[in-house]
Amino acid sequence: MGVQVWVPRRRIPIEAAENPDHVTVMPNDLHEDVSTVDAPLTRTAASTCPLSWEDLEAQVAGCTACPLHQGRTHTVFGVGNREAEWMVIGEAPGEQEDLQGEPFVGRAGQLLNEMIRAVGFKREAVYIANVVKCRPPKNRDPAAEEAAACEGYLKGQLALVKPKIILAVGRIAAQNLLKTATPIGKLRGQVHYYDQIPLVVTYHPAYLLRSQTEKRRAWEDLKLAMWTFRQQNT
Ligand code: URA
Ligand code: SF4
Repeated sequence: MGVQVWVPRRRIPIEAAENPDHVTVMPNDLHEDVSTVDAPLTRTAASTCPLSWEDLEAQVAGCTACPLHQGRTHTVFGVGNREAEWMVIGEAPGEQEDLQGEPFVGRAGQLLNEMIRAVGFKREAVYIANVVKCRPPKNRDPAAEEAAACEGYLKGQLALVKPKIILAVGRIAAQNLLKTATPIGKLRGQVHYYDQIPLVVTYHPAYLLRSQTEKRRAWEDLKLAMWTFRQQNT
């Protein structure tokens, strides 16, 4: 059985880093039936004991594995339905998130909520997390080493939630999850896989707040995500 587990205390999952376990499938390849597309074998999250939510949350709360711990007010673990079918993954806490300890509670969060509504869910029905759990100074992009140091926690969350689809919002989330430097404009519009979970990329809501014209594209991404999700359930 493909039970997903997470190895505690191994903050950088070496196997995963060396064997990016995602593939990219163009929509044209998918029109038959998404669920029959062969996703690659899972190599992440090796093989011993899965952490509980409580253990994982406690580890994050006390984590000093990267320099971002120095500037944080709160760690921002994740929020929502721990048995969600949709998992939304962003970049890093901003100011409000750092103050409140919850992801996507600022202005971008309001728009994210609308995006979640657009795919048919209330915010509480999905699970929301970030690539890094502590706020980078002045909201700079998290460094690759910081994302790597934090990766095990996100993997733990993914292993516990076992979502049916991942929506990666923004370049940082997409590039870190897919282990690629490909620009977001090229990553969107396709169905990728993270382990065997379909992953759709869209623009970050903070970016959409600044660029009205890209909202139309984001809607296309959300439609692709909905379509992909429905294919799995038919
Ligand atoms: N942007 C993110 O990527 N995550 C948050 O939690 C807030 C803003
Ligand atoms: Fe730990 Fe992640 Fe915070 Fe870095 S960002 S200190 S790895 S919880």
